[in-house]
Amino acid sequence: MTTKKHARLEAIRNIGIIAHIDAGKTTTTERLLYFTGKVYKIGQVDEGTAVMDWMVQEQERGITITSAATTCFWKEKNINIIDTPGHVDFTAEVERSLKVLDGAVVVFCAVGCVQPQSETVWRQADKYGVPRIAFVNKMDRTGANFLNVVKEMKTRLGAHPIPVQIPIGAEGNFAGVVDLITMKALIYKGEGENATMETGEIPQEVKKLASEYRHNLIEKLGEVDEMVMERYIHEKGLYPHEIREIVRKATISGKMVPVLCGASFKNKGIQPLLDAITDYLPSPLDIPPVKGINPDTEEEVTRKPSEDEKFCGLVFKVTTDPFVGKLTYVRVYSGKVEQGGYVYNAAKDTKERIGKILKMHANKQEIVDVALAGDIVAVVGLKNTTTGDTICEEEYPIILESMHFPEPVISMAIEPKTKADQERLGMALHKMEEEDPTFKVTYNKETGQTIISGMGELHLEIIIDRMLREFKVAANVDKPHVAYKETITKSTRSVGKFIQQSGGRGQYGHVVLDIAPAPKGSGILFESKIIGGSIPREYIPSVKEGVTEAALNGALAGYPVTDVDVKLVDGSFHEVDSSDIAFHMAASIGFNEGLKNGAPILLEPIMNLEVTVPEQYLGEVVGDLSARRVKIEAIQDRANLKVVRGFAPLAEMFGYSTTVRSLTQGRASHTMEPSFYQEVPKNIAIKIIETSKGETKSHK
Ligand code: GDP
Repeated sequence: MTTKKHARLEAIRNIGIIAHIDAGKTTTTERLLYFTGKVYKIGQVDEGTAVMDWMVQEQERGITITSAATTCFWKEKNINIIDTPGHVDFTAEVERSLKVLDGAVVVFCAVGCVQPQSETVWRQADKYGVPRIAFVNKMDRTGANFLNVVKEMKTRLGAHPIPVQIPIGAEGNFAGVVDLITMKALIYKGEGENATMETGEIPQEVKKLASEYRHNLIEKLGEVDEMVMERYIHEKGLYPHEIREIVRKATISGKMVPVLCGASFKNKGIQPLLDAITDYLPSPLDIPPVKGINPDTEEEVTRKPSEDEKFCGLVFKVTTDPFVGKLTYVRVYSGKVEQGGYVYNAAKDTKERIGKILKMHANKQEIVDVALAGDIVAVVGLKNTTTGDTICEEEYPIILESMHFPEPVISMAIEPKTKADQERLGMALHKMEEEDPTFKVTYNKETGQTIISGMGELHLEIIIDRMLREFKVAANVDKPHVAYKETITKSTRSVGKFIQQSGGRGQYGHVVLDIAPAPKGSGILFESKIIGGSIPREYIPSVKEGVTEAALNGALAGYPVTDVDVKLVDGSFHEVDSSDIAFHMAASIGFNEGLKNGAPILLEPIMNLEVTVPEQYLGEVVGDLSARRVKIEAIQDRANLKVVRGFAPLAEMFGYSTTVRSLTQGRASHTMEPSFYQEVPKNIAIKIIETSKGETKSHK
């Protein structure tokens, strides 16, 4: 019995396909699904029918932004492909998928080599210690150069790439590959759906190169495995299965990256890639047990990948499916969960019932009774569970190391085009907010505007696109703005009164608030210090609500207020006239007053910036960054390039991609992600405040 359970886990590969945009990730994923027999018709990205890209605008833009998971089978092994987005604006999405996968295929373009974003995703994979294999795609394109990509992987990524194949021909003559492990040629005949792969002798023209790289492979394996060395010295051969075993170990321990090649578009190299995924990438048994915290004791707990352990799983994606409603994607780390069973959300202290459990195949959804350790499934029925939550058993609570989501830093006003759109707009925004933890919706009371915020311009563009297509809401949007915040720098006591007593039943609310600056990142803290009953307990929640609501729009320029500590210290009430509303209003008035007297300041998002640039352009790049108020922290060497690291105010970085491209003839690459908030220099703050006042007036 134990061995059966073990064998099931051993056969699972939870993998992601990661790449620079346009390297061919979608095409490769789709071909993998085709060859595993789950897709009956070859979809083509160019025609917008690829199976993984199920949102319309993705197909139009040709980019993948959702992280759905697809299950397929190859030679008795169960491969779950977790889709990862390729655009830098979706870093959070890439990170959340990297967190739940055990291994990855990194797709490179044989012409473009190691492009800037390949570097970004490579570093993210390093961060999570994800074992990788590399697939050099587009070998059929003019200018394709396999060995160049291998070289760049070393110099630009600092990786240990070791070819386990070499191409036979290139560009128009790309015919197949030499498998350096079996020393056989895999030759493709034809290109379409009926293309076949034949195994044969290595063609004369690549024999020399093949034996050179076979030698290289064995030599490198000798460095990581003694057995290889020994056999080598004694001139004993190695069986293919022995070599594969060593490559597997070296890949899983991060000592090497096996490199393969092909042309996905022409259906070349896909079957050996599937073999490599199952041969070299880890099963859930090969990775360390998952770690978490028991929220009751604060102690660290680990869970082994076994269905006999207590259940725990991580929610890594929430989507809305037109047919089944809300779908919650879960990576099950330990134990099992059954349809109809209950799960406990330790962070939220709530219990929810699992409706249906689905395994998502490329062309169908399969309902299963149970999800076991190692599985990746979609669950229907979880209403209050969001991305990043851990679900577990109530008696054995655990919170897995949570995912880190940067706060949105860019926002824009949005308004419905017609009255009919109004209601649908609210619903659509709410749904998308649930799905995407980096997307936020707020309401500016002063201007009456709905504000949407996200991680970058493209992020918001896609939201608006989805709104129109998926939810059929037409909306007007403003230019994107930096999401400033406000806080105070001085402690102050303030009084808020809302009293109306002219005939009939009146209103009476009266609060005294102590307001003080709070540490960075604490948001709005609220505590009631009332002991003598000057305000009855039942009204305290309304006071808190009044404060929270008033904090949405600060005193300086109407931006959300953060890092303020509010204490309710006194007040009074009226037997007849006091009400929840009256205390809510009094608290808002008191808090607003306190903000004004608390020496308020404006805060701006600061981005963690990294620019990689050839040395000859370093001067121009650094000069330009200094003019953008960027604080440069370090300039380091990476291979033959310079890496500039610093902190950049987002407000100065609009259009940076275009500038840096023209400064360096397209040779620089950069990444940027939100890091922290910091006070805006006074002279700049004055201008921002003036502009925001002007805008408020014109909207009235
Ligand atoms: P993604 O952005 O990484 O998902 O890339 P896609 O799969 O959408 O591919 C980008 C473009 O490259 C599309 O026009 C594909 O048809 C094309 N493409 C993908 N694989 C190959 C290949 O092996 N050879 C050639 N010549 N083109 C390819």
